[in-house]
Amino acid sequence: MMKQYHKMKANYPDAFLFFRLGDFYELFEEDAEKAAQLLEITLTSRNKNSKNPIPMCGVPHHAVDEYIKTLVNQGYKVAIAEQMEDPKLTKGMVKRQVIRVITPGTYLSNGNKENNFICTISKPSRGYCLAYTDISTGEIKVTKISDFETLQAEFGQLQAKEVVFSELLSDKEMEILQNIHSFTVSQVLQMQKQDLKDETFQKLTEDIEDLDEKEALKDLMAYVASTQFQMIDHWQKAVNYEVSHYLHMDYFAKKNLELTESIRTQQKKGSLLHFLDHTQTAMGGRLLRQWLDRPLIIQSQIEQRLDQVEALMNAFFLRRTIQEKLKGVYDLERLVAKVSMKQVNARELLQLKHSLEQVPIILQAIQEWISEEPMRGPIWQPILSTMKALPEVVDLIDRAIDPNANLLITEGSVIRDGFDEVLDGYRQALQHGTEWLATLQQEERQKTGIKSLKVGYNKVFGYYIEVTKANLHLLEEGRYERKQTLTNAERFITPELKEMEYKILEAQEKSVEREYQLFVDVRQKIQSYQGRLQDLASSIAQLDVVQNLAEISENHQFVRPQFDEKRLFLKNSRHPVVEETIGRDQFVPNDICMDEQTSILLITGPNMSGKSTYMRQLGLIAIMAQMGCFVPADQAVLPIFDRIFTRIGATDDLQAGQSTFMVEMMEANQAIQHATDRSLLLFDEIGRGTSTYDGIALAQAILEYLHSHYQAKVLFSTHYHELTSLETTLPHLKNIHVGATEQDGDLVFLHKVFEGPADKSYGIHVAKLAGMPRSLLVDAQNILEELEEENAQEETQQMSLFVQEEPSKRNPVEEEVLDQLDQLDLNNMTPIQAFENLKSIQDLLKGESS
Ligand code: ADP
Repeated sequence: MMKQYHKMKANYPDAFLFFRLGDFYELFEEDAEKAAQLLEITLTSRNKNSKNPIPMCGVPHHAVDEYIKTLVNQGYKVAIAEQMEDPKLTKGMVKRQVIRVITPGTYLSNGNKENNFICTISKPSRGYCLAYTDISTGEIKVTKISDFETLQAEFGQLQAKEVVFSELLSDKEMEILQNIHSFTVSQVLQMQKQDLKDETFQKLTEDIEDLDEKEALKDLMAYVASTQFQMIDHWQKAVNYEVSHYLHMDYFAKKNLELTESIRTQQKKGSLLHFLDHTQTAMGGRLLRQWLDRPLIIQSQIEQRLDQVEALMNAFFLRRTIQEKLKGVYDLERLVAKVSMKQVNARELLQLKHSLEQVPIILQAIQEWISEEPMRGPIWQPILSTMKALPEVVDLIDRAIDPNANLLITEGSVIRDGFDEVLDGYRQALQHGTEWLATLQQEERQKTGIKSLKVGYNKVFGYYIEVTKANLHLLEEGRYERKQTLTNAERFITPELKEMEYKILEAQEKSVEREYQLFVDVRQKIQSYQGRLQDLASSIAQLDVVQNLAEISENHQFVRPQFDEKRLFLKNSRHPVVEETIGRDQFVPNDICMDEQTSILLITGPNMSGKSTYMRQLGLIAIMAQMGCFVPADQAVLPIFDRIFTRIGATDDLQAGQSTFMVEMMEANQAIQHATDRSLLLFDEIGRGTSTYDGIALAQAILEYLHSHYQAKVLFSTHYHELTSLETTLPHLKNIHVGATEQDGDLVFLHKVFEGPADKSYGIHVAKLAGMPRSLLVDAQNILEELEEENAQEETQQMSLFVQEEPSKRNPVEEEVLDQLDQLDLNNMTPIQAFENLKSIQDLLKGESS
């Protein structure tokens, strides 16, 4: 047996091999030692008395799922080796075979709001290919990405637990990806690619033109198919997308804006997703996350979503009905997957039925509501066109599946009475047998006069008549055959009982077999509805997201955003997550206003006053608007942004061993290199991680660069006061500040944004708020005053770093030219005179240059 084991194990070196032995799955050797620890089970050994006992541990077969889950959730793989023959009927070694490999990326978990993606990353001659699938929903996507930064962003949002490579990326690239989140690295073998069913592959990828993308899909599908030992029947056609067709946010931006998890806790709580997500179904939850990950950039598409949201905002009762009914809809996508992978049980089919029963009610409610106002019809067309009730499926499950069905499909009690005549026949026979047994007990008691005589059953000995030892003498000689001896009683069998036992057991066996067969038939019939069920699931998901956004928008009094290429105006806007945390009445709303002339807002104000909240607020509002949600403001006019970049001080800047300042510069560089006129840039306290002059110089240079290169909208917060004078030289830059006042020497934050620069930095006040010792604060105040005095003297001697050095830089000839130009009286001059003057000016300059 160990030989057999070793042979198998050699094929699955990176998986725990669960080796079926009777009612247990056993693990041996290193696997056993490691698994015993991870699963907290007892490590024993085989051949205990030999010189080299083999470490071993095991888990009971009926509880195996829990153990698999524990291992897979920790990033491990599990290979299941089953017995392929009945050990009772086999002489010698039982044949065993690995029938399934469960890996972190292919694990079918149950109805939660998260996708479980497995992806491949390949590196064709240019750029990268990213392909991924969630086998619990059957979707497959692929995209080609030109640069590593974008790959990081896409990869970061997938949260794939497993990545399949045919060739690994460079060490550096692998390290960066592993730093974004950890994943299991898997390799696809040439052999596995050859095993892939070509016909199915071609069909699933017929919409994909790019050969590199096809190759990446091949890697992915070959690997997944090899773990399942079959093609995934519920795979939907692979879909290509372009990252540039969505609002682009790099990895830093998504993280900094806390879209799906809080930076501090790395939990969903505290994120925009957590705030937004009140979806009723698992597929709605997953779709909402996809909308948030990929906001739109095409106005008509955004407006279509907003129209739907608005419609449901205004339809309170319809919304309630929809919510109520959606609560009864289980995870259709995953149920379909389970049907197709033959992993569905009878109770899950009942869940499917229950889900499908909600659909006609939802449909009817929507249709009635449309009939009140036919104009509403077209808005709902995209959702309604695929939302079809499937009464045939409901009817089939209703007739076939027992409402109290057994969890296991192989042990009977799954199929309803009346569904199948043959099964009913077996059941009658069984029923008859049970009655016969009851009568037998009565008769035997009368015949023998033993009141305590019982007819019973046990697995090993079958049916028996039990008589206590004290009563044995009352039994008729020769009629009862002894079967089993207990301490106080003896068990017997009679020829009639033996005959009935045979009949009962046969009926039982046949009925269980029949039930299983019937279940498989039902499952197969349901599988033939796969495409329609998947369409239905997707329309339910959309409806759920729309009702969810409508609910949020109404509850929080959001407004519908309007789009204007040139203008940005938010009246009384709020940060949705902060507002929810501190309470609506505590949050101070603010306007954010950038007219056509303004592209940069320079925000000053004391620490903790709300600068960074203000900036994030704009980022979140832009994202919400473009995903099709109303926004937290009284009025909202926004351009449609193509990209959002952030440089926002995060707590965990220590990525991949980079220093804080390096990360800061990398993020800033991303923005500077990749921004366009339609981008939004949020820069919080740039240049803080280095010495003051260094920092100011960099910050100013960045502002000037952005000012002269892009019309992108920039929010730039700083505590370098000196930067505010840039307003005089950069016409598209405007100063604003977050207000604070002093009351009795204490600082009071107003959280209100005003025009113009802040009048001072308040650093010492904040230190005071933090509770620093009084003497230290007095000291700091004195030092500050000294420094300010010195600085003022220096400034008069030295050129200020921040004011453009104008006149003194010109040479005398330039000065002369300027003077001449200044004195020209153009209104009293003929064209010829003007020409002559121009020529003399030019001569002057030429003379200088020669
Ligand atoms: P800064 O970036 O200026 O240091 P933050 O934006 O981090 O300040 O804000 C500090 C704290 O002030 C936040 O945690 C929040 O609780 C509070 N805050 C910020 N903006 C507002 C606001 N508009 N209304 C009420 N409280 C606010």
